[in-house]
Amino acid sequence: MRIGEHLPWVHVQQISTHWLLHRGRRPRRLRGLEDRLLAQRSPDGPGLTELIRVTQPRFRYHPDPVATGSAVPTVEACDLCGVPRGWRYAGPIYGRQIDVLCLHCIASSEAAQALTGAADWPCMFTDTTDVPQDVPFAVVEEITQRTPGFDSWQQPSWLYHCGDGAAFLGAAGHEDLRAHPDALEMIRDDLHRLGWPADQADAMLRRMDRSGEPTAYLFLCLHCGVHLASWDIG
Ligand SMILES: [Zn+2]
Ligand SMILES: [Zn+2]
Repeated sequence: MRIGEHLPWVHVQQISTHWLLHRGRRPRRLRGLEDRLLAQRSPDGPGLTELIRVTQPRFRYHPDPVATGSAVPTVEACDLCGVPRGWRYAGPIYGRQIDVLCLHCIASSEAAQALTGAADWPCMFTDTTDVPQDVPFAVVEEITQRTPGFDSWQQPSWLYHCGDGAAFLGAAGHEDLRAHPDALEMIRDDLHRLGWPADQADAMLRRMDRSGEPTAYLFLCLHCGVHLASWDIG
């Protein structure tokens, strides 16, 4: 049997959701189903990596942590739930450090609880600075405690728009920013506020580099569709 014929992708997603509801612990029935899915892969069907990627939890504010580099492949089991998920979190942990942390444990809040830091603060995966007043606390909680963070030169902080968190799309260079003039203007305004002369601000924008520095961080408002960006330098 080929997965695409008899067990459509949505079933794999349902397994993933079910795991989430059970806070990372797979019921025996589903464990068997997943094992069968993996064993029944057709050679010309989706690869194991793609299949495992599909079974990762969905994050409203970080839609593709694999694409942004916040999740990297691993064959090792998660240090918290003990399940080899195929991917491990690769972003910052503001709390107790562990080597292998799966995305399911972040989504279920298992990680935020289990990796509580010294001062009894829940573990967080991103910083909270400049959160607009119209953003509900529940959103900030979801972004800081149940959403994979991302690496940056300084302490990364999330961007917000329309009273909600924005979705993180990844690090961006000048070319990426040029495709989103709204985000480019946001950084230009930021530099202007910091007192940069226009020509120096333009030069700085041209130096933006996805993997070098300075780096821009691109976000998308989930309501009005505007692109937003922050930036930093090492
Ligand atoms: Zn885990
Ligand atoms: Zn908006």
